[in-house]
Amino acid sequence: MNTEDKDVIIIGAGPIGIACALECKKRNWNYLVIEKGALTNSLFNYPLNMTFFSTSEKLEIDDIPFISNNPKPTRNEALEYYRRVATSNKLNINLYEDVAAIEKIENYFKVTTSKSHYTAKKVIIATGFYDIPNLLNVPGEDLPKVFHYYKEAHPFTLQNIAVVGASNSAVDAALEIYRKGGNVTMIVRSESIGERVKYWVRPDILNRIEEGSIKAYFNSEIKTIEENHIIVETPEGKIKLTNDYVIALTGYQPNFEFLAKAGIEFSKDERHIPTYNNKTMESNVEGLYLAGVICGGMETHRWFIENSRIHAKMIAAHIEKTI
Ligand code: FAD
Repeated sequence: MNTEDKDVIIIGAGPIGIACALECKKRNWNYLVIEKGALTNSLFNYPLNMTFFSTSEKLEIDDIPFISNNPKPTRNEALEYYRRVATSNKLNINLYEDVAAIEKIENYFKVTTSKSHYTAKKVIIATGFYDIPNLLNVPGEDLPKVFHYYKEAHPFTLQNIAVVGASNSAVDAALEIYRKGGNVTMIVRSESIGERVKYWVRPDILNRIEEGSIKAYFNSEIKTIEENHIIVETPEGKIKLTNDYVIALTGYQPNFEFLAKAGIEFSKDERHIPTYNNKTMESNVEGLYLAGVICGGMETHRWFIENSRIHAKMIAAHIEKTI
């Protein structure tokens, strides 16, 4: 394996990693984005028919216009946009290369990947949170009928589906599967549908639950998953429900182990927020930056494309002073 020397290595080709690459390119830095999956891999794995809650201009990076058919773009339109930004700007991106470790050696970084080694003066981590689902940790979760990601409704027509969770992803999945002829039961740990559910979707889910088209058990948790049924603990006691598939949409979390191995420290509470300077986005490791949704730790709703796209310019402005 050869070692390549770079000014800046960006880990993750999500919207924010791409925004960072544009800033590096403008400054003629020798940079490289390393992405373990496809371009914008998280967006690629979103539900096929999803629509963003943001309007398209709020998802633009570096003021490059994002034209969509309706004010809020679809997954396909977002894939088209970021793909076009990356290709027409000829950004340096290596896909399908997993970064295994970042090691600081004196005043540079050694970056080890599944394919090569690199050295870099600065490293930007923009790895998001979409790769590690929050597990239910119940017996049967490893059965092939259990999913932690939702793509589309068609396979679930005429089937008994348990959707676990009550946030946007769970609510969108429950409604879509119900409308494609699935028999949907929501299993919700809290006492109601999540507060952050999109305001234009909330009446739809509340009305479907009230009329009984979608069943919902609140203050309830799945205890066991078996081939043909699930056991649910409800306030009225344990119940057994006939079940074909479980779709557990209970959120995701950043790869904390990866960050910790790179020397990043976290808040001591359950939020596990990584340490960084909120003016420069530099972490507690000098020259190692955090960008995008990764900055929220377990508070994965705190940062999104709209409010974290500015990280790219903040980081570039700081690197400019020191490189
Ligand atoms: P990501 O897009 O997650 O990119 C991180 C990248 O890093 C991934 O491609 C991943 O494969 C790669 N990676 C991870 N680990 C490694 C590694 N070790 N080596 C190499 N590569 C690695 N935000 C909005 O602003 N508006 C919306 O309307 C909106 N709607 C959303 C709808 C859904 C269903 C979801 C789940 C999220 C939504 N968000 C929205 C949030 C938004 O999509 C994320 O904020 C956005 O993807 C964050 O971009 P990012 O670049 O920080 O991370």
